[in-house]
Amino acid sequence: MSTHHTAQRVDLRSDTVTQPTAAMRAAMAAAPLGDDVFADDPSVNALQTQIASLLGFEAALFLPTGTQSNLCALLAHCQRGDEYIVGQMAHCYRWEGGGAAVFGSVQPQPLNHQSDGSLSLGEIAAAIKPDDAHFARTRLLALENTLGGKLLPMDYLQQATDLARQHGLARHLDGARLFNAAVAQAAALGTDPYLEARRITDCFDSVSVCFSKGLGAPVGSALCGSRELIARAHRVRKMAGGGMRQSGGLAAAASHALAHQVQRLADDHALAQRLAAGLSRLPGLVVEPPQTNIVFVDLEGAARARAGDLIPALARHGVLATGLYRLRFVTHLDVDAAGVDHALAVMAEFFAH
Ligand SMILES: *Cc1c(COP(=O)(O)O)cnc(C)c1O
Repeated sequence: MSTHHTAQRVDLRSDTVTQPTAAMRAAMAAAPLGDDVFADDPSVNALQTQIASLLGFEAALFLPTGTQSNLCALLAHCQRGDEYIVGQMAHCYRWEGGGAAVFGSVQPQPLNHQSDGSLSLGEIAAAIKPDDAHFARTRLLALENTLGGKLLPMDYLQQATDLARQHGLARHLDGARLFNAAVAQAAALGTDPYLEARRITDCFDSVSVCFSKGLGAPVGSALCGSRELIARAHRVRKMAGGGMRQSGGLAAAASHALAHQVQRLADDHALAQRLAAGLSRLPGLVVEPPQTNIVFVDLEGAARARAGDLIPALARHGVLATGLYRLRFVTHLDVDAAGVDHALAVMAEFFAH
């Protein structure tokens, strides 16, 4: 085995680390540009039209990050003193610095996830506050799909969003990895990923999608919704400093990804399976079977006792991952089967001694 001598490097920390392909760079270089603050950038306008129509919404807004996209959505749906129901592990609650509370005085009502990543319908219903001066006004249900790589079942999405609608709540989807969900769902049903994306987004009043994760663009997210909602989000984006100028090169990368790099997410899912299968053969590793492109592994027993040494040892052999007792490996555009096999060999070597 040559793991000690190879210069091979495989970065499994996140699907955000991808480099634009040559074809994407060419699309970026060729993009016609204008000043998007004057709504003059043809490439940004084209992307916004493309993603809105693809996902079945009236309008869309291109934003630099998914964090800003979620913030604009939350502040477009909610006023000061309103609240949104959200999962404990949801990005727009846990991993965005509390932005909705800080900038919008919008209160989160977090709920624990069930083991499949969903929020219990009973707990959602119980968390909706009566119209009474004691309570914040419950305005929005925010779900995430995929969540930690888990695909929320379609019938669950329908039930949860129906429940929210019956109580007068708006429904937002953090679909940073919507297309991973759509591709996995399409593979399970033998249907088309774009069709499955649309079935998922049809349950929601707004959807945020990241181009900078598995889709492989360097930067950017889009928020989709009604014309009225997107007009409010546009105002928040301006306040957040997210009005960009000749951003068409970035939008062109996103358009290129939508056209050419959706179906290939299936490759990432297959590589996650390959990695999970290999890891589950190592002692002390409890592997959560991946549904999309993220593999979580819990270290137990003797493996757990060595957790502190593992990530640095992997890095010395060119394998980058995150976590401590619970490791996370993410497959993406810049990972191939040889990279996965290299990671497996380095892991096996570590646990063999
Ligand atoms: C990555 C991510 C975001 C946004 O991330 P940015 O780094 O701000 O682009 C939002 N939601 C989820 C679920 C994510 O994984």
